[in-house]
Amino acid sequence: MFSTTIKYREKSHELLAYEALFRRILEKYRLHEAIVSEYKRVKAGYDGEKNVDYKLSTYPDKDFFIIQGIRLKNPPFPFQIDTLILTTKALYILEIKNQKGTFAYDSEQQQMTQTVDGEVRSFKDPILQAEAQKDHLRGWLARHGIFNMPIETLVVIAYPTTIIKNVRDEPDVYQKIIHNESLHENLDRRHRCYTRDILSFTQLKKICQTLLDEDIPLRTDILAQHGISAQHLIRGIPCRNCGHYPMTRVYKNWKCAKCSAVSKNAHERVILDYFLLHNPTITNKQCRELLQINSRKTAYTLLRSMALNTSGNNKGTIYYSPSVKNFPQNSAIPITFNNAFAKQKLI
Ligand SMILES: [Zn+2]
Repeated sequence: MFSTTIKYREKSHELLAYEALFRRILEKYRLHEAIVSEYKRVKAGYDGEKNVDYKLSTYPDKDFFIIQGIRLKNPPFPFQIDTLILTTKALYILEIKNQKGTFAYDSEQQQMTQTVDGEVRSFKDPILQAEAQKDHLRGWLARHGIFNMPIETLVVIAYPTTIIKNVRDEPDVYQKIIHNESLHENLDRRHRCYTRDILSFTQLKKICQTLLDEDIPLRTDILAQHGISAQHLIRGIPCRNCGHYPMTRVYKNWKCAKCSAVSKNAHERVILDYFLLHNPTITNKQCRELLQINSRKTAYTLLRSMALNTSGNNKGTIYYSPSVKNFPQNSAIPITFNNAFAKQKLI
């Protein structure tokens, strides 16, 4: 019997937004270095976390409850935990690092540096990061009436090829920063030290549910972050076949004026991308502007067909984005981008 995952990792809003951006941005801006490098950073974080998720899903203890990524509030501060493990005896916070190459940890300088191909970059101390999350989680638990729960932190390096260098040779560091491969063994050893149940099984299940209820995923405004405005973006629906835009509405279909390709539901992706990039809500007027159409009735029909939550009525109707937790995950980046990506080797 394996550990029990109670929340599976989804792509973050930020990652979904980058994928949307590569579909919406004009081709000439698509390989802008700052955008590509930020996307790669966010994607690498997600991939590293998935690697650890897999390892943890095979941990042979069904009473280990796993939350793959959560963001909570310890007012006024929000805090984010890469992976949270809950048991009746203790909690474990995993801070996941996806960097490759050589990772040097200096406990005196409280600094982490990464060396890849001779280039050195420095990062925040991941042990301190995890400890800060622990303090926040302790505050959160106290507000929910739990005071004496042991919380352990662990920095997990996602990839086996990453070399960990303990600069000051401090024995403690080997226990705090570990490879994904030794995660099971490390959890075993730590968990053996806890013999007393702090929570009953019922209390544990209740706290798990409260955590999930209070999860508030972060929305990131990547357009503002990169100074991207309407002039950088595609207007209307682009043709999947040839890239020409906007497609026009002809007899309940979208038609490309250039290559005559036809699509029935090309508006759906564009509206979902609008939610990711611009606004978590849309009105009929905004929809007409987005799809470059004039008919209020057509926009109404299209929006209704997507079964979105709404508020208000008639002209004041507001249509809501699916929540980040339930957002469709199948959002591929245009293939032209992938090809150019492979060739360019920007990083
Ligand atoms: Zn076309």
